[in-house]
Amino acid sequence: GIKNTNVPNLDGSINNTDDDEDVVDLAANSLLNKLIRQSLVESSHLVEVLQKDPSSPLYSVKTFEELRLKEELLKGIYAMGFNRPSKIQEMALPMMLAHPPQNLIAQSQSGTGKTAAFVLAMLSRVNALELFPQCLCLAPTYELALQTGRVVERMGKFCVDVQVMYAIRGNQISRGTNITKQIIIGTPGTVLDWCFKRKLIDLTKIRVFVLDEADVMIDTQGFSDQSFRIQRALPSECQMLLFSATFEDSVWQFAERIIPDPNIIKLRKEELTLNNIRQYYVLCGDRKNKYQALCNIYGGITIGQAIIFCQTRRNAKWLTVEMMQDGHQVSLLSGELTVDQRASIIQRFRDGKEKVLITTNVCARGIDVKQVTVVVNFDLPVNQLGEPNYETYLHRIGRTGRFGKKGLAFNMIEVDKLPLLMKIQDHFNSSIKQLNPEDMDEIE
Ligand code: ADP
Repeated sequence: GIKNTNVPNLDGSINNTDDDEDVVDLAANSLLNKLIRQSLVESSHLVEVLQKDPSSPLYSVKTFEELRLKEELLKGIYAMGFNRPSKIQEMALPMMLAHPPQNLIAQSQSGTGKTAAFVLAMLSRVNALELFPQCLCLAPTYELALQTGRVVERMGKFCVDVQVMYAIRGNQISRGTNITKQIIIGTPGTVLDWCFKRKLIDLTKIRVFVLDEADVMIDTQGFSDQSFRIQRALPSECQMLLFSATFEDSVWQFAERIIPDPNIIKLRKEELTLNNIRQYYVLCGDRKNKYQALCNIYGGITIGQAIIFCQTRRNAKWLTVEMMQDGHQVSLLSGELTVDQRASIIQRFRDGKEKVLITTNVCARGIDVKQVTVVVNFDLPVNQLGEPNYETYLHRIGRTGRFGKKGLAFNMIEVDKLPLLMKIQDHFNSSIKQLNPEDMDEIE
């Protein structure tokens, strides 16, 4: 992936003047996912578990009752509409709630229930009668910290005396203040400041330490060093938990250095496939010509909702204007919007308020809009060398085999780009049929 060197602004937007392609902003993407997620993400894979002590029995739970939680916490869980633990929670929760506490490194894609799991662990270990910080959660950005805090507040709705405080830039708090809130959620820099410079938090009293979104965290300059400095001041009996949506080597190295004697849980991602997608291409001249072909396709078949991908922001804008002038209801999802604006555009699209969503690569990463049956590549995805970007092609068009519906994909190809398309076809060993846009009967 592309490394993020741009630190997001407080509102989640990115200082990115590059018109060619949006920069991947992991934190913004992660926030976007949280804002639009409505339910658990499924996976047909088995949870892999590596125990710190392989000879100890491995517990898993199928119900929340089995966890013997405090009454008020169980009530909070059911009030959120959770009926049973998610796949990863089945394995993770018994470890996280064990006595004596066990450390954990857990990896699974976003939406599989990690946040809910560690919030549950924090709430179950907190002593409401003790008025000082007992749980500390590090998050990569202000907004992500707030999202986690919201989950604490919802799940802890009936834990009346438990309170959350945010150690984030901009949260003014004067020296010598006695923090009475039990759960602190914050970004590494501010937490470090509150602990060492301003002596607002006594790290020796922390019982649960959570590192959320570790992959996003290490992507931000300075955050891993700051996390280490915090971690080193924690007492040896403090429970340490680390979560990540991905596990590249760098995340893995960070995780194993910062979490002593961990149990490890992994849930592999559902793989994308092109098997249930019918793929077509139309040979075109310039972009006006591509647009004409697109209109013909549009007129020729009944399309529910469609996503159209462009390679550059400029093209995406141009196409949006063209389609609007022709009376189509379209919306443009582009990188210069704030995360909130993007989330609201995606939500409107999900609700069917617009039929067409035009976007560039990066914006729509990881966003699954289940009802979309048609994907159009207005431009083929290519890398800086002008080679096809296979991964992006798969991300745009592919569906997960078990849960995905059938789909249609159209590629608008300038004649000189045909070799790229052939490479894509060979790479995936799946056929992409040529289509004459004047004759839609060819679409089976
Ligand atoms: P992650 O941290 O892995 O991204 P979350 O904990 O945010 O996942 O969970 C994703 C979504 O699923 C959220 O909307 C959350 O409320 C919901 N969720 C989490 N656990 C459960 C559960 N056991 N049952 C039903 N929904 C759940």
